[in-house]
Amino acid sequence: MADRSVWSNEYPVPERMKAWVLGGPGEILPVEKPVPRPGAAEVLVRIDAVAICATDLEIMRQGLPAMVDGGLPFDKNFTIGHEYMGTVVELGPAVDEYALGDRVTVEVHAGCGRCARCRQGMYTACLNYGDLAKGHRANGFTTDGGFAQYAINNVNTLVHVPDDMSDEEATLVVTAGTSMYGLDVLGGLIAGEGVVVTGPGPIGLLGVGVAKALGADPVILTGTRDGRLELGRKLGADHVINARQEDAVAAVKRITHGRGVQFVVECSGAPEALNEAAHMVNRGGRICLAAFPHEKVPVDLAYLVRNNIYVYGIRGEGQSATHRAMALMKQKRFNASLIHTHTFPLGELPTALKYARERIDDAIKVVVKTQA
Ligand SMILES: [Zn+2]
Ligand SMILES: [Zn+2]
Repeated sequence: MADRSVWSNEYPVPERMKAWVLGGPGEILPVEKPVPRPGAAEVLVRIDAVAICATDLEIMRQGLPAMVDGGLPFDKNFTIGHEYMGTVVELGPAVDEYALGDRVTVEVHAGCGRCARCRQGMYTACLNYGDLAKGHRANGFTTDGGFAQYAINNVNTLVHVPDDMSDEEATLVVTAGTSMYGLDVLGGLIAGEGVVVTGPGPIGLLGVGVAKALGADPVILTGTRDGRLELGRKLGADHVINARQEDAVAAVKRITHGRGVQFVVECSGAPEALNEAAHMVNRGGRICLAAFPHEKVPVDLAYLVRNNIYVYGIRGEGQSATHRAMALMKQKRFNASLIHTHTFPLGELPTALKYARERIDDAIKVVVKTQA
């Protein structure tokens, strides 16, 4: 077996690459960096496309949830961006799970592989989160991410991309994977159970697609913007509720003949969302929290206790959920590319970020093509 890395002239790897790094809060700067080299169980990915996530904007604003060397990620030559795809151009020693030239999309977290959570497959909740010496990586959060021409990935964080899937659509697998993890492994969704998704952001919209593909019935989407709700319908929502026009809890009760649903996937981050979700689920129902509220929120805990309601947070895409999301997307069970709205070259990243932040021209998923 090869004890050194494998590369080929077909995929030349330069010594240095273009990358963007965080300066102070709100600041992102173009630099040149050395191209990193893959170690054991790693490959070098030439990044072809990377999607901007609301979390990237959050990291730029306040640093968290990214952590570098145990502190905030500012002024550390650190590259964010975690929803990327590309081409394998160098293999670390003994890597044979992937070949040079393979098109891959990535998930964020490579757990340490040695803690109790990683051993359960819950590597997004690794107990050695951020401990590089123990092998943990979370690209764009604790290790360099995808607003660059190349990135290192552990083989466990790669998913093959089928030939007929565009680069842009492939960047959305990690978003769909997050919705998948919340519904299937963490949630235990089985066909025929009702799902309400609150908040038609990217995770919410793809959550609708995933829920429908898994056989949820009915799938209900709530939001405040008709354009987004219409997209939700195209992704598989049986009912959409504009919460500006009618009370969302009452509407869910009406649609379900007073019974409520088994699941709410909370993607809005609105302060009242959890209390409302508690009234949308039936007794014993489950609420998956997938959004970060900006403040602490008061919760009617007694109601949750009396009604045996389960509440669980989700951070990313554990237990190989990206593979299951890719399986559905490959079979065209929902059209994730409906949420991709804009594309920019890597050199115009600040403009791309502005489009995503200010939702210019109804931007949802803004993708940056790195080789353009
Ligand atoms: Zn993301
Ligand atoms: Zn771990």
